[in-house]
Amino acid sequence: MARWDHLADEALAGNALTREDAMSVLRADDDELLALLHAAFRVRKRFYGRDVRLHVLRNAKSGLCRENCRFCSQAMGAQSGVERYRMQTPEELLEGARKAHEMGAAKYCMVTATRGPSNAELEIICEATRRIKAEMDIDICASLGILTEADAARLVEAGVDRFNHNLETSKNYFSKVVQTHSFEDRVRTVKIAKAAGMEACCGGIMGMGESLDDRVDLAFMLREMEVESIPVNLFDPRPGTPLADVERLSPAEGLKCLCMFRFVNPTRDIRIAGGREVVLKHMQPLALYPANSMFSEGYLTTGGQGYEDDMAMMAEAGFHLSEVVHEEE
Ligand code: SF4
Repeated sequence: MARWDHLADEALAGNALTREDAMSVLRADDDELLALLHAAFRVRKRFYGRDVRLHVLRNAKSGLCRENCRFCSQAMGAQSGVERYRMQTPEELLEGARKAHEMGAAKYCMVTATRGPSNAELEIICEATRRIKAEMDIDICASLGILTEADAARLVEAGVDRFNHNLETSKNYFSKVVQTHSFEDRVRTVKIAKAAGMEACCGGIMGMGESLDDRVDLAFMLREMEVESIPVNLFDPRPGTPLADVERLSPAEGLKCLCMFRFVNPTRDIRIAGGREVVLKHMQPLALYPANSMFSEGYLTTGGQGYEDDMAMMAEAGFHLSEVVHEEE
């Protein structure tokens, strides 16, 4: 146990984890899982107590993407049968924000399946953001693909607080899962969003066939980029996509990934994202020990266990919904 406590001590002292330490977390024997979770919880508790930040996603434009991300059911060529629809209206997006607000969500994230936003799509997101901000106290996140500096400035002016753009995996593995844009394209957009004044929400997907080294590379890259929020998806292979037959991670592997991200990025918002229910299964509540945040009411194209069960899980494990927190305060 002392070994994992040592990692917690280092993280709490503000010392960066070494790559070897991060690898040792992913390689830990399953017998050590509870000790590892306990150590990660010490770090999580220092910065977030037992608070859980709830995020609600809105798929504002679904299934019509021209990019070829091999993991994605909305990608060009995917035979996944996901619902396809064009950009929703500001009214529809506002209605989604009202529901998220009622649920106590800290953030409402509007997402479009696209390489980057068209002028018209950007205007809809800006219009929706202005109306949401005028009506309620909720932070707005947008996830619209590749951004230009001018796009980012428009979003900031409309009141968007945070921009999501996941790196998905390591630089080394990226071209194995996406060919229509590069890892550098993604890094550039995250930098543009931050430079414009938005927080960066930037994470990845664990379990697409990448190595443990790739997972550690991603965690360190996100540390270097100083992203504020890290969604950790546990890959749930989608039928009709090129990665449909990849075997899911075990619950213990998924939990070790979350612990590793917590140790490498101790102060950051670490979110249990897609795949939570199907990968972690009955061990799901343990994810709240390293992670301080989660999505509720499903993901972009798959449902979750639902808000009621999420709230029950959180309460029964001794955690509670955070007050709406504005990061800059
Ligand atoms: S850019 Fe986004 S929506 Fe489009 S295929 Fe890639 S992950 Fe899917």
